[in-house]
Formats: sequence, structure tokens, C-alpha cells
Amino acid sequence: MGETIGLTRGGAVWIPRFLESIDAAKCLGCGRCYKVCGRDVLQLIDKPFEGDDEFGDDLGNKVMSLSNPDNCIGCEACSRACTRKCHSHIAL
Ligand code: SF4
Ligand code: SF4
Repeated sequence: MGETIGLTRGGAVWIPRFLESIDAAKCLGCGRCYKVCGRDVLQLIDKPFEGDDEFGDDLGNKVMSLSNPDNCIGCEACSRACTRKCHSHIAL
């Protein structure tokens, strides 16, 4: 358990799990995680490597990145929106 501990409105303990990284090798660049994040943490960028993904599929030339990681509140909405399990989170 991390040191950052929150409370729900009802007073229950809630442990935020902050976004730590996005696996660019899996990312489709679909933008789903970007749309659900209300904290301006994410940004679509040009793919930083050439070629296909780990499954041999051509996924286009864009991937999601963490542009403002310090804005993250650890809600994990981005992970729930992603069909490729690209996001890694950490309690701090
Ligand atoms: S955990 Fe929440 S605040 Fe952080 S990047 Fe994901 S959607 Fe945004
Ligand atoms: S939802 Fe997943 S696959 Fe889509 S842009 Fe975000 S990290 Fe990439």
C-alpha cells in the first residue's frame, strides 16, 4: 500500500493508483483513454519506433503518451477504457 490515501464521499478509504507508464508496443492509438481522462495527463504522439506491434499487426503511426503525469489522480479510468491493457499504475 502506498502513502497516498484518499476517502470516498462516504468516508471509505480509497487508494489512488497513479498512471506510471503506457506500453507503446501494444497501443493502438485509438484515443479511448484520452477521452475518459479528465486531468489532461495523456497525449497522442507519433509512434517512437518503426514497424508492427508485438502481434505483427500494423497499428498506425500514433501512440498514447503521458504528457502530464503529475496531473494524475489515480482513478484508473484510462485502464478501464483500454482494450489492450497498455497502462501500468502504481500507488504512491
Ligand atoms: S488514472 Fe485517471 S487521472 Fe490518471 S491518467 Fe488515468 S484517467 Fe487520467
Ligand atoms: S486506450 Fe489503450 S490502445 Fe487506445 S490509445 Fe489508450 S493506451 Fe492506446
